[in-house]
Amino acid sequence: MNCLQYAPKPHFVLVPFMAQGHTIPMIDMAHLLAKHGAMVSFITTPVNASRIQSTIDRARELSIPIQFVPFQLPCAEVGLPDGCENVDKVLEKDQVKKMTDAYSMLHKPLVLYLREQSIPPSCIISDLCQPWTGDVARELGIPRLMFNGFCAFSLLCRYLIHQDKVFEDVADGNEFVVLPGFPHHLEVSKARSPGNFNSPGFEKFSKKILDEERRADGVVTNTFHELEPLYVDAYQRRIGKRVWTIGPMFLCNTDTSIIADRGAKASVNEKHCMEWLDSMQDGLVLYISFGSMARTVVSQLEEIALGLEASKRPFLWVIKSDDRPTEINNLLPEGFEERTRSRGLVIQGWAPQAMILSHPSVGGFLTHCGWNSMIEGISAGLPMITWPHCAEQFLNEKLIVNVLKVGLAVGVQNITHRTMKPHEIHVVKRDQIERAVVELMGEETGAKERRMRAKELKEKARKAIDEGSSYSNIRQLIEYISSRGTQTDVQ
Ligand code: UDP
Repeated sequence: MNCLQYAPKPHFVLVPFMAQGHTIPMIDMAHLLAKHGAMVSFITTPVNASRIQSTIDRARELSIPIQFVPFQLPCAEVGLPDGCENVDKVLEKDQVKKMTDAYSMLHKPLVLYLREQSIPPSCIISDLCQPWTGDVARELGIPRLMFNGFCAFSLLCRYLIHQDKVFEDVADGNEFVVLPGFPHHLEVSKARSPGNFNSPGFEKFSKKILDEERRADGVVTNTFHELEPLYVDAYQRRIGKRVWTIGPMFLCNTDTSIIADRGAKASVNEKHCMEWLDSMQDGLVLYISFGSMARTVVSQLEEIALGLEASKRPFLWVIKSDDRPTEINNLLPEGFEERTRSRGLVIQGWAPQAMILSHPSVGGFLTHCGWNSMIEGISAGLPMITWPHCAEQFLNEKLIVNVLKVGLAVGVQNITHRTMKPHEIHVVKRDQIERAVVELMGEETGAKERRMRAKELKEKARKAIDEGSSYSNIRQLIEYISSRGTQTDVQ
């Protein structure tokens, strides 16, 4: 006889895509689920696990019920260099393809592993870019929920663009077309919209993503209903399945060391960084960071430095340097460090971003518009200067600037991608940067109103996760999965 047997606690299996912007929110999700009484297995690989070793150790120390499970990625079998387990390790497109192939080869080992667990899995939540996990879920007879780290505004745009093949007859990537089915007038261009691995060689993979998106039992997102109700509701209606908005997920972290080492060990001494911020006046520091993937060419670094210098505002600037062994000061204009010493701090490498943003001295954020950064900025109540680079970031900019009205566009028209050559990149000029910084951090009516709206959103974000929509959604999600039970054969 087939009957349902319920696990004592629902057991969620999380499978992130291995890029920092995808992995970090899923680690937060693991903590959020655990906080609400679920058990979590977090699937990773040795290289990715080593980056978050302090989080793994801390979770163990605090007896948080998250198991981090590292699977050996078959790099050699697909022709990837050993240890090439994260997208930030690859610069060639064909390596991304090989990496997605290698991850899909974890299918069998994952099924075997999950079949052996004393508490059987109840549900898989996996990244959009790990579509093979749909087959794993079906083989185990459990639901698969898809995680996409976009806001609902961009999720809806992406869905309409791909499912309705909006750009099929548009030859010019820069041509703007009206997006049919969007709740209001919105013009999008292919170059400034998220792709779906459209390059040659990815055909099967991108089709699998869309197929599994249709077959998924629901979607989990890192936004909150009160922030963008129009788009959450429209997206849910359009896809015809439940959308669980459970963000801002990172706000569930209360342990300082988990917040400080979120995603990777910081390359700066956090204490030094916090002491520097303590020495600044409240609300005056501009934080500048372009996320985990973007690399800034030297000519652009120069323009940013000179724009910041001319603005005369205090700043904390994070520059990614892991592919640049050079001391960063050698790449910045001569004398810049000395001239801005009293009001500027440059961090080369990984910064404890969530911690920095919540410091009272920080009063603005110049961001590349990755959704994690945006939701962190919103949660900290910060007005933002938007500088989108690629992917869905140009759409996020529209949400922040035009809909929520807490952002000011620096005025980027062209995409910048880490695989582009320096001469292909349109550099944003120092005057543009200076103007945006002075306006955002200033005392004009527009700046004050932006600041006030940002503070209101901060309150709403905190409320959503503590007692509002995200709180009830995570409870409902756990109840829903528990009530479906774990299907095992009981003789
Ligand atoms: N991040 C960080 N320190 C850094 C750079 C990034 O903690 O020096 C975190 C940031 O807080 C965010 C994530 O990395 O959670 C970046 O994700 P986002 O979506 O903003 O951009 P992506 O890196 O995917 O382009």
